[in-house]
Amino acid sequence: MTSLNQRRPLKGQLQTADPDVHLAHNYHPLPVVVASGEGAWVTDVTGRRYLDCLAAYSAVNFGHGHPALIAAAKEQLDRITLTSRAFHNDRLEPFAEALAQLAGKDMVLPMNTGAEAVESAVKVARAWGYRVKGVPQGQATIIVMDGNFHGRTTTIVSFSTDEQARADFGPFTPGFVVVPYGDAEALEAAIDKTTVAVLLEPIQGEAGILVPPADYLPAVREITRRRNVLMIADEIQSGLGRTGTTFACDRSGVVPDLYLLGKALGGGIVPVSAVVGNSDILGVLQPGEHGSTFGGNPLAAAVGHAVVELLATGEMQQRANELGERLHSGLNALIGHGVTAVRGAGLWAGVDIDPALATGREVCELLMDRGILVKDTHGSTIRFAPPIVVSEEDIDWAVAQLKEELELLATR
Ligand SMILES: *Cc1c(COP(=O)(O)O)cnc(C)c1O
Repeated sequence: MTSLNQRRPLKGQLQTADPDVHLAHNYHPLPVVVASGEGAWVTDVTGRRYLDCLAAYSAVNFGHGHPALIAAAKEQLDRITLTSRAFHNDRLEPFAEALAQLAGKDMVLPMNTGAEAVESAVKVARAWGYRVKGVPQGQATIIVMDGNFHGRTTTIVSFSTDEQARADFGPFTPGFVVVPYGDAEALEAAIDKTTVAVLLEPIQGEAGILVPPADYLPAVREITRRRNVLMIADEIQSGLGRTGTTFACDRSGVVPDLYLLGKALGGGIVPVSAVVGNSDILGVLQPGEHGSTFGGNPLAAAVGHAVVELLATGEMQQRANELGERLHSGLNALIGHGVTAVRGAGLWAGVDIDPALATGREVCELLMDRGILVKDTHGSTIRFAPPIVVSEEDIDWAVAQLKEELELLATR
């Protein structure tokens, strides 16, 4: 194990030139060029090391190069990687069985990206509405939340409330109703005979790691059950260990009708997403009605299966829970000292920086200079979501670096 001193990067090696001249400008990355990674740490092209406190938006929940996941991928690379769903492959059903069992459901619809899982759930919910619930053809509506983030496709941005995500991308897909997040009464009031589903994040990630009131998800579950409306939980970022439980819904004892999974399901190796539910809902899809060339490919299934096996022991969840308490108590101590609020659960924290001191982006750049990679959202919030394999010392060190930086900013 390296000492803290060795891990601390050298100062003054900031890379400034934008290395991405041939890339569309849809991102504004921090000026660091990562070349390799191991566990919670990455190394840039000059050899500087950084603690990765973003974990690719939770796609790298189990750390860079997790041995069991890399082994599963390598083994499968040598066997077969793609068959298409025109044929069976010997990896997919065992993966689906394990994932369904982890979720307490009986059916899995495999896709690739998170947005595809969301799109798939929208289609499944509509088909369920027409074929099972009896909603008049063409009238199905889905209730979504103010501040939602579900991906970037044209239908998904149609119900985004973030102007930046929507502007100039219309015309938009109809059939969505937006209600305030965390308000069960407003949700119930929006339900009518055309409502087929409620789609929500159990904790809103991109919105700033917003945790709803404790009684909210149970109320949504009760209302949706009573009104014969599907509850769809987008656990693409909140799920698979991040919050100290397998799913963030577990924290409220709530079981949705459909789980949407992605990001960490691919172990940071390949894109793997899925809709997980019971056959009375997912079973509405018939051959030819939906599909994906890469969805359910043997490489994805082998990696996804290894991810499920990691989660099946509960160790990752317990670790996220314990380390999360450490992270949150460290960050909470900064409230009033350059931090105005800390939100989150498990190893996931949204930290609001006092706007009088600096923007979120500025703090991210200063922390990068100190060897910590984090990402800002909505101006003043920075989020901490390190891989769950991060060490206690790393967490304490990261919090100490933020504390020192905020003290320096206060004297500016
Ligand atoms: C990242 C994310 C998505 C979209 O996933 P992609 O793989 O980027 O398409 C959807 N929902 C939530 C909550 C996410 O965090």
